[in-house]
Amino acid sequence: MAADGTLQAPNVYDAEPIPEAARAEIERLLTSGDLFRYTAPEGAPVALLEEEFATLLGSRYALAVSSCSAALFLSLKALDLPRNARVLIPAFTFAAVPSAVVHADCIPVLVEVGENYRVDMADFEAKLADAQAVLISHMRGHTSDMDAIMALCDARGIPVLEDAAHSLGTEWHGRKIGTIGKIGCFSFQSYKMINAGEGGILVTDDPELAARAVIMSGAYEHNWKKHHGLQNSYMLWQNRLPLYNMRMQNLSAAVIRPQLPELARRVAQGRFNHDHVADQLNASPYFEVPAALAPEQRAPDSIQFNLLGFESDAQAKAFQSAAKARGVSVQIFGLSEDNARAFWNWQFLGDAPELPKTRAMLMRACDVRLPTRLTESELDFIANALIAAAEEVRG
Ligand SMILES: *Cc1c(COP(=O)(O)O)cnc(C)c1O
Repeated sequence: MAADGTLQAPNVYDAEPIPEAARAEIERLLTSGDLFRYTAPEGAPVALLEEEFATLLGSRYALAVSSCSAALFLSLKALDLPRNARVLIPAFTFAAVPSAVVHADCIPVLVEVGENYRVDMADFEAKLADAQAVLISHMRGHTSDMDAIMALCDARGIPVLEDAAHSLGTEWHGRKIGTIGKIGCFSFQSYKMINAGEGGILVTDDPELAARAVIMSGAYEHNWKKHHGLQNSYMLWQNRLPLYNMRMQNLSAAVIRPQLPELARRVAQGRFNHDHVADQLNASPYFEVPAALAPEQRAPDSIQFNLLGFESDAQAKAFQSAAKARGVSVQIFGLSEDNARAFWNWQFLGDAPELPKTRAMLMRACDVRLPTRLTESELDFIANALIAAAEEVRG
């Protein structure tokens, strides 16, 4: 609130404070200097986080690492794919996802994404014939048709990995996202549901994949004994896999663990915030917030919507400026220079493939952050600013 009583544009970048409980644990770790996950014989904060996270997701194994990108890389390596294996990924995702595929010596094959931000199943099925693995990135927490994807992949024996970096708390038929494919990967980077600045974790029910990922994450010598799991699997892989050293350190786990009990509240709040703004935008003729697929219960901390009837890029950009003048930052994925979510900017892949559906979507799809801590009046401020900006440009 400004001094004259008017509501100022809400700050959508600040995170929630880290729970008080983290402080005592961080103090304890700083005092003892015990920051490395494998120093303590048992009960290290990273090991406790893995147990708690596996329980939260209902998975047999969890492995905490330095980022979700590291988790994606280790998941691909754990599958033991041949060099240059073709891995299908959605063409709408963050640049770190094709990067993880390249890092794992595989070839990312981009699949079209529709106006509802979900994998285009016709293109998926067409490209599946030549694929050795599938990495479904639930971009901005939007869940593609996992029933259809799993049915097609299971029938062909193609492994599915889930990039659930931005989907912690999302459910599909009541099942937790990240537990449908062989491995699910999550991020603790600051813009995700749980904030440690950086960090990631993977979950799986497969003891071989877990053992391989644990060793490659940097469990050198017999440090795998400090992980819960089947010893046979580890002994099989001892000394036979490279050590990529992508471990998480104890301070990160100390920041993450007290946030786990906050997750259910954050998910409920995020869903409320999203739906509150979505209802207002959908009532306007200028916007469409695509509906979730029927089996999906979302856990959003941002909103995506399409501009309707904006004929030119200049008109879409004018909307962006008009919203900015009202204090609300809108990202139109395809219109900001060097955007890391626009596939034609992933020049490290070589020439961009032709993906007309995804390109058309990106040119009119808007992105606005809605952190869970926003109040209802702040949400209304954002919705009103967006509608007023569209009216100004189109009216
Ligand atoms: C944030 C994000 C990533 C990368 O996570 P890091 O932990 O920063 O490596 C990958 N995929 C999606 C969909 C993301 O949102």
